[in-house]
Amino acid sequence: MADPRCTACQSVALEPGFIEDSGEHSRGYGRWVSGALATGIFGGAKLMGRPKHAITALRCTVCGHLELYVAASGDLDDR
Ligand SMILES: [Zn+2]
Repeated sequence: MADPRCTACQSVALEPGFIEDSGEHSRGYGRWVSGALATGIFGGAKLMGRPKHAITALRCTVCGHLELYVAASGDLDDR
């Protein structure tokens, strides 16, 4: 994520943030999960064994566009 830049307006005025997950039993932040979505018999996403990464959401302070990034390495805990 060297020199992050807004892909909509090319500004470099990006404010760090993250995507909140306020769902019941959530950790408070959204995660990016490797691999296409697959659901189980109860409709929930299958997550076992999938690499998970925290999402960094950079807000462009000029146009409001969000740039989403995940760290190149560093899986989060499985759950
Ligand atoms: Zn922008």
